[in-house]
Amino acid sequence: MEPFAYIRETDSATAIAHASQEPGAAFIGGGTNLVDLMKLYVARPTQLLDLNRLPLDKIETMETGVRIGAMVRNSDLAYHEAIRLRYPVLSEALLSGATPQIRNMATVGGNLLQRTRCPYFRDTFWSCNKREPSAGCAALEGYNRSHAVLGTSEQCIATHPSDMCVALAALDAVVHTSGPHGERRIAFRDFHVSYGDDPAQETVLQQGELITAIELPVQPFFRRSHYLKVRDRASFEFALASAAVALDIQNGTIAAARVALGGVATKPWRATEAEEALVGTQPSEPSFQAAAAAALAAAKPQTHNAFKVKLAKHVLVRALTTVANIP
Ligand code: SF4
Repeated sequence: MEPFAYIRETDSATAIAHASQEPGAAFIGGGTNLVDLMKLYVARPTQLLDLNRLPLDKIETMETGVRIGAMVRNSDLAYHEAIRLRYPVLSEALLSGATPQIRNMATVGGNLLQRTRCPYFRDTFWSCNKREPSAGCAALEGYNRSHAVLGTSEQCIATHPSDMCVALAALDAVVHTSGPHGERRIAFRDFHVSYGDDPAQETVLQQGELITAIELPVQPFFRRSHYLKVRDRASFEFALASAAVALDIQNGTIAAARVALGGVATKPWRATEAEEALVGTQPSEPSFQAAAAAALAAAKPQTHNAFKVKLAKHVLVRALTTVANIP
């Protein structure tokens, strides 16, 4: 780990000012991802701005939805009554991620900024465009079983690792930020960006911009939602494929649907094609199979991960079957 300055922040305005003035500064909450990467020399912040004293740790339930402070711990969010009742998909996604110890430390804001688990990214021996622009991508010719099949570019095929973000993508979440140029509300689907030519650019956040909260809208049918994750082992592991789904079923017909995929894409993947395929159909295996085919139609498998296309389809069909309560 390289030397760095440490500042314990007590208010957002000062934290934003510090981050705006120092290009090498990084915000730190639970540190469950950043500290790992610092030990590996993958992240090398010159200044750590500790946000743990900021008053951003409240979960507020309102008529219009739920507002979740960026410093709320993953465990607290997963077990909150309003989340378990109104947005079970989010509670399930949180509890499927990491270990209880990590969930007790990790924050909601930090979860949005989790870095990929691509092994070539985490080992500085290998070339990686995400760590070093134009260095090349060792995964393209390497062992890419865990990599993405959706949203990839010629520069990077790394998956986004978060479970929580897949649920937020399905739930039409809004990210609240505060920065040197004021406050912003960013639709969750616009928050993470596809890699394009610069895979180091993962979100639309600007220098010094701080995530302050996540807002979830009220939608009665979000109570009928579910997160399903498939991984190599049942304990602490990242997804090979996962699905977050919600269905509004009226008089035996799907009136609205939300579908997002994890473990297969370079960002939390909202599958609008699947949603369009579901609406107006009766909940049934053929309808779910058609939605899964639509969701994965643009998939581009690499040498070792073609299995993910089939797996993701199965996961999505199973998640939809569960939420529709079909025997
Ligand atoms: Fe780096 Fe992305 Fe290639 Fe992994 S897939 S080595 S993160 S450029």
